[in-house]
Amino acid sequence: MESELCVGQQRVRFNCDATRGLYRDLITVPGSECCTCISCKNFAAQRTKVFPEEFLRFLKELGVDRPREWEVFDYAFGPENPHTHLYGGWFLFCGELIEGLDKKSELGARTFTHWFTTSFPASTLPKEVKLCAVEFLARIPWILPENSQSSAHGKSGSKP
Ligand SMILES: [Zn+2]
Repeated sequence: MESELCVGQQRVRFNCDATRGLYRDLITVPGSECCTCISCKNFAAQRTKVFPEEFLRFLKELGVDRPREWEVFDYAFGPENPHTHLYGGWFLFCGELIEGLDKKSELGARTFTHWFTTSFPASTLPKEVKLCAVEFLARIPWILPENSQSSAHGKSGSKP
């Protein structure tokens, strides 16, 4: 069944059942756990704490019962605090964005924000399914003993 959801100035049409199928058959492991780069390892080590409760409830409403991100990437650290890294990433769902394509949410002084997007790494995805994404930004600490200046990121070889 298709439903619609409005967030801020954006509106999506989505299909919960199809999305549940997507996470049952295709997205069975979180993206950060598929990649061996050190940035993803840092994210994976704390991924259960990264997403706010409210965000997890929002994902559930879309049919994402098991919050497995499709892919994350590290924007690297800000000069003001080398221990905090800014990460971006996507959660996919079956649906389409029907209003507010360019209404990206700004992070500002917050540690987490999200919005809908139609732009995400899709080279390894089936073309016949209509997919849309929730993009997020999160400030999280660097908790690994290694420093962050090594190893290349990429499950699909694509870096945004
Ligand atoms: Zn990686």
